[in-house]
Amino acid sequence: MIEQVVHLYDRFMVTTWPWVAGLGFQTIAGMLVAFALLERFFPAEKGQPWSAYFLNLRITAIYVVASSVWGGFAGASIAWAGAWLGLGLIDLRFSAGGSLGLQVAAGFLSVVIADFFYYWFHRTQHTFPALWAQHKVHHLDEHLNTSTAMRHHWLEELFRIPFLAIPIAVLFKLDPGPAGLFGLLFAAWGYFIHANLRLELGPLTALLGGPQVHRIHHSRLEEHYDKNFAAFFPMWDILFGTYHRPRAGEFPPTGIEGERVDTAREAAVIPFRIWLRPVIRWLEARHAAVLGPLRNWLGVVKK
Ligand SMILES: [Zn+2]
Ligand SMILES: [Zn+2]
Repeated sequence: MIEQVVHLYDRFMVTTWPWVAGLGFQTIAGMLVAFALLERFFPAEKGQPWSAYFLNLRITAIYVVASSVWGGFAGASIAWAGAWLGLGLIDLRFSAGGSLGLQVAAGFLSVVIADFFYYWFHRTQHTFPALWAQHKVHHLDEHLNTSTAMRHHWLEELFRIPFLAIPIAVLFKLDPGPAGLFGLLFAAWGYFIHANLRLELGPLTALLGGPQVHRIHHSRLEEHYDKNFAAFFPMWDILFGTYHRPRAGEFPPTGIEGERVDTAREAAVIPFRIWLRPVIRWLEARHAAVLGPLRNWLGVVKK
């Protein structure tokens, strides 16, 4: 049983973005340093302060620690959902013992599927205020750079369980080897697409996500709101009507107009301010219901 859950947990980490499970800290640090150096030479936004990197790293540290807890929770949730609905209803395994081409095709397919589910999860995060409340931590970065890749609220992976881990595990059986390998390769893509690089992909722009396309997603300009949700394949945005093809030289400013976060603690509590608002209002209303007659009575007494 334990073995099964661990296998399912691996499947979760492989089929969603496996940067926590698959990439060691050395690799993460290596990617950050490599892209941070490139950003100094070819920046889209010049003169970004180092403090922006350090704030992102602090928010990332909280996210990584929390994600390790949610990972175990994901394994248990998948096992639970599997008991009800079954797992791997559609068998897409075809590469075992096959040629390199088949292995690559199997890995590619797993990323296409994961990106489809990520597209809809991400679009949902932008659609519903309760989900936007936590996703906005990622968007509040005024200085988009490679360290923004893992700047997520600490509840992010918990929300990915019902939107990504469970549906993918219930629906598909994927070749674990190629899916894992491609998961790792594309994990690196997260650092690339967030990099503060003045890099245009030319004819590949509509085929692969890159720093320019994802910068549009992080843009603070209204014309770019709710565009370019896919992480890897813009075809999902093209297909579902949310694609903005960047114009030559289009590298807009990023962040959210009129809002900013300066500390990791603030980022950690930000959604709770929104989620708890109705509770506070309810308490105030209840309070007022008690206080109202009392005030009236006091008013009468004063007369
Ligand atoms: Zn977003
Ligand atoms: Zn992003």
